[in-house]
Amino acid sequence: MTKYDTDYTNYPVCPYCGHEHDDYVYAEGSEDYDCEACGEEFSIEPDVEITYTTSCKTHDYSDFREAKGMKFEVCTRCGAVRSA
Ligand SMILES: [Zn+2]
Ligand SMILES: [Zn+2]
Repeated sequence: MTKYDTDYTNYPVCPYCGHEHDDYVYAEGSEDYDCEACGEEFSIEPDVEITYTTSCKTHDYSDFREAKGMKFEVCTRCGAVRSA
């Protein structure tokens, strides 16, 4: 534990003053960084989490549904929905 929450944060947080560096540009690997607020140097170690998004390549919107008075077309292959 440290004074400030510095683990797995969305932005690098200065461990000295808690300043959030929300304009930080992701650098590969760890690097030393001077805090914009207090000037102290601290080290940043990026935690990279990779997620994947896939989508159906050729939708087949041949299934029709109706909900709340709206008509929808549903892809029979992947279940994607679009308004008809
Ligand atoms: Zn600082
Ligand atoms: Zn599809």
